Parts: sequence; structure tokens; C-alpha cells
Amino acid sequence: MSLIIQKYGGSSVATTDHIRRVAMKVASTKIQGNKVAVVVSAMGGQTDQLLSMAAEISGSPSGREQDALLATGEQVCAALMSITLESLGHKAKSLMGIQLPLVTDNVHTRARIIKLQTEIIEQILSEDTIPVVAGFQGVTEEGWISTLGRGGSDTTAVALAAALKADCCEIYTDVDGVYTADPNICPKARHINIISYQEMLELAGLGARVLHSRSVELAQKYQVPLVVKSSFGGEKHTWIVNEEEVMENSIIKGVTLEKNVSKISIIRVPDRPGIAHSILSPLAEAAINVDMIIQNASIDGYADFTFTIPTTELEKAKELVGQVAREINAREMLAANNIVKVSAVGIGIKTNPGVASRMFKSLSEENINIEMISTSEYRISCVIEEKYGELAVRAVHKAFGLDKVSKEKTEA
Ligand code: ASP
Ligand code: MG
Repeated sequence: MSLIIQKYGGSSVATTDHIRRVAMKVASTKIQGNKVAVVVSAMGGQTDQLLSMAAEISGSPSGREQDALLATGEQVCAALMSITLESLGHKAKSLMGIQLPLVTDNVHTRARIIKLQTEIIEQILSEDTIPVVAGFQGVTEEGWISTLGRGGSDTTAVALAAALKADCCEIYTDVDGVYTADPNICPKARHINIISYQEMLELAGLGARVLHSRSVELAQKYQVPLVVKSSFGGEKHTWIVNEEEVMENSIIKGVTLEKNVSKISIIRVPDRPGIAHSILSPLAEAAINVDMIIQNASIDGYADFTFTIPTTELEKAKELVGQVAREINAREMLAANNIVKVSAVGIGIKTNPGVASRMFKSLSEENINIEMISTSEYRISCVIEEKYGELAVRAVHKAFGLDKVSKEKTEA
């Protein structure tokens, strides 16, 4: 008997009709002789709605209360799903993060999982009952409700699959898997059947919103077989597996566009030991993720220091960095959010030296100026002006031969 974790995203449970359809899928998985545990997101749009209600009242609600508010979305959905399963004649029990419990650190709104207790859920499974877990939420060691960051239900599902040593974790969403680029931006994007954890991790971290990056990280760490499917049917899906299992490898697997990017530059920073630390450590303490960092060569003892952060953290970062800039007597601090990051991702990058220049060439042919570059074993990223973002994705996608052959061409 296999144990399958099925996670349903917001669009798959957007209405009670959707919930009924999903519940039937869950039930049929069970009837086929499997054990199944369900993880749900809030009903589609619910989390945004709750956030905007809070925003009507306060520009900066505390993380603790924001988490208490947002966790209700998943609570409602888990209970409705259990009610639906019961109405179909199956035993089901909803479980909140605090009931599992799924214990997290105390970084509210972006908490990380510390441990996931499995006794209660194992008990429920052994009673031939379907556990329906509210995704995205946990409880801090102090006992406060926490959440794992937007899209975090995927991570709940994978953590559960890992803790229960499930045979498979199925992520149901409104698309039938992962594409070589966002088809809304790049109509010639192709469906990917199988991709390595590492590539998926890069894609997820770079704005491909199919999976929460932390979920991919956990899946790789605990070797959870992960598959993305559409809850609206269709044959296609994407498996996320170990690198060795991906037979057909192209140099570049996908191209992403990340819009939530801002940069901060500090001009004329004294060039001495400890400066990078003093600029970046307040950000680290505030749990703000700094991505690309550039310090140019120093001229008469001064250098310019630039880095990127998520736009959602820009205001806070400006405050923190502004203070440091004054303390170290830098000339000024500049901030910009009219930038985007275009990235090419693939395991072929580390073994094919020409990949970066191929990407730069495709951008230059479109007259797109590159402001910042970073590379790793698995990706090349360029920061460019926002207005060229989509054009850049199409250009890079084409340059790496990822465009699907158009129908007319095949028929001709
Ligand atoms: N409901 C949360 C969100 O909208 C978590 C999730 O859907 O995974 O971000
Ligand atoms: Mg999601």
C-alpha cells in the first residue's frame, strides 16, 4: 500500500464546487488502495483578500498578527475539505499547523520549519481516516501561529511527505507542470516532463511560481519524489527527480523573469576591511535576502557597492542601509525598483563554457543593456531595465533553442 501526499493549491480549491471535485480525486486515490494525506492552500484569492483587509487598517501589521490572520485561510479550506470528504462517505480529519504540530522558527510571515511531529497524523492514517492538513502554517516554539511565506503550502506538503516517508508527493495546481518559460510571456515555451531538483530549485527561486523554492530544497534533501500536476485534468505533468535520472539533458532547461527585484547602491564607500559586513549584516539580522552583490574596483580608496533585494523589502532595507551609509560616511545611497532579473537555468552551464556569452549576445542583439550579472553552476542571471524583461526572456529562450517548432512549420 503506497502513501501519497496530495497538495491542492488555491486555484484548485477556489470554490466549494472545486473542493468537491478535488475531494472526489482524493477519495478515488484512496479507493484504489492507497493511503492518502491531503494538504490544502487557502481558497483561491483568500490570502490576498485577508492581506488587503489588514492593509485597510494598518500599513505595517505585526508579523505575529498577520500570521494569525492568514492562517485562517487554510483553516477554512481544510475544514471544508474534511466536511466534503465526510459527505462522500470517507472518514477525514482536518489538522491545523498548531495541532500537528509543525514547529517553526519565530520569523513571522517567513518562518522555517524546525520539526514536524508525525504521531497524530500517523494515528489518524492508521484509523483509515484521511488527514487534511492546513498548509502554509505552523507554530513557533513560544506557541504563536506562524506562516511559511507566500506559496508555503507546497513546503508543508513536502515536509509531510519527508516526515512520513511517503512514496510520492503530488502537487496539484492550475497548470500541468513546469515550462521552459512562462507561456504568457513566451508563447513558444515548451512543457518539461522531467527536471532535476537543482534546476527546479533555481527556477523556483527565480520567479517560476509553480513551486515554493523551499519545498524543492526539502524534496531534494529528503529525496521525496515530487510531481506537479494539474487538478483540472490533462495527461501532462512534471517530475522533479535527481540529476542522474534526467536522461535527456539540454544545456539550458528554462528561462525566468523575476520582477520583484530592487537594487540599492551606496556610492563612494571607504574601501577598507569590514565594510561589506557592516552594510550587509543589518540586512541579515532583519532576515532580508540579499541576492546579487557587486563592488567595483576602488579608486583612491573608495568603491561603489550595489546589491539586489526583493522589492517587498526595499523600504526596510533603505532605512537600514541608509543609516549605515551615514555612519561610514558614504557619499549617498541610491535605490531603484525599475529593474528585473532574467535568468537562464540548466545543469549544462557548469560544463559548457560558452553559455554565458551566448546569453549576453542574445541580449545585445536586442539592444538590451545588462546592469548586473551573476553566475553559478546552474544559472546565469542578468539584471536589466524592467521594460525589456519580456523581450529578453523571448530572446534568450530562442538563443538556447528552446522555442517549440510552430505548428505551421511541422505541417509544411
Ligand atoms: N495561501 C498561501 C498563499 O496564498 C499559501 C499557499 O497558497 O501556498 O500564499
Ligand atoms: Mg501555490
